[in-house]
Amino acid sequence: MAQLIYLDGELVERDQAKVSVYDHGLLYGDGVFEGIRAYNGRVFRLEEHIERLERSARAIMLEIPLSSEELIEATVETCRANEVRDGYIRMLVTRGEGDLGLDPRKCANPSIVIIAANIQLYPEELYETGLPLITVSTRRNSPASLDPGIKSLNYLNNILAKIECILADVQEGIMLTNQGLVSECTGDNIFIVMGDGLVTPPVEAGILDGITRAVVMELAEDEGIRVTEKLFPITEVYTADECFLTGTAAELVPVVKVDGRQIGDGKPGRTTRRLLDRFRELTKSEGTPIYD
Ligand code: PMP
Repeated sequence: MAQLIYLDGELVERDQAKVSVYDHGLLYGDGVFEGIRAYNGRVFRLEEHIERLERSARAIMLEIPLSSEELIEATVETCRANEVRDGYIRMLVTRGEGDLGLDPRKCANPSIVIIAANIQLYPEELYETGLPLITVSTRRNSPASLDPGIKSLNYLNNILAKIECILADVQEGIMLTNQGLVSECTGDNIFIVMGDGLVTPPVEAGILDGITRAVVMELAEDEGIRVTEKLFPITEVYTADECFLTGTAAELVPVVKVDGRQIGDGKPGRTTRRLLDRFRELTKSEGTPIYD
């Protein structure tokens, strides 16, 4: 079956889904996006993703030409057209076609693209063995320059960090703030387990306000696990009992080594496992239905 892409109100075949080379999304990374998951015929936390997309768009003064309800409808329609039950959805809004100057006022019509595809899941064994990480030297964007809370199409900060990970032969890396404290990873938020509580950097530190992060915080509270949002140095990760990452694609991935140092007993921890199990239970039962 040919893949159908939502492009500005129409479902078009993948090789027909094209935007202008004058689109400021391409020329300048001027636009916003979301990565969303579908589980078992339902889109998980779709409203939260749309809200974050709208927040990001507002922050860059980009007016999305569809309402929240229309964005939800377009997402569901794109999933249905591609017979997605368990998949990954990429939604982006670009500034649209302009000229070679920076002036966003030259871009009269923002473009909306929705791609819904069957996802390549992280291999299940990763959840059994856990990930090794490094701390990268690329610092996370300062919120005073480009707030990491804006999920913009300009992901070069993360890509530079990802290149360091690739060169070090690891999948993810910890990025520090300009002050040298832990912020997040290239495409995931980070948590550590200290005793019977969770610790994670606050959104004000300059991180993406992750949807999975928020779900995990809800689940932890429900499990009677205390959650503290505070800044901490990388040494606290080295000495933590457990460490895990959260993200739409990753769900909750245990971390077993950082910069060559073993975390906890070097195996995925009990709290991480419990929260992952609870997370997966939730994804099975919750979400916006794609099919009636
Ligand atoms: N941080 C960054 C930089 C990200 O790109 C992402 C999303 N891939 C996350 C954290 C995790 O956010 P979410 O749980 O909303 O996917």
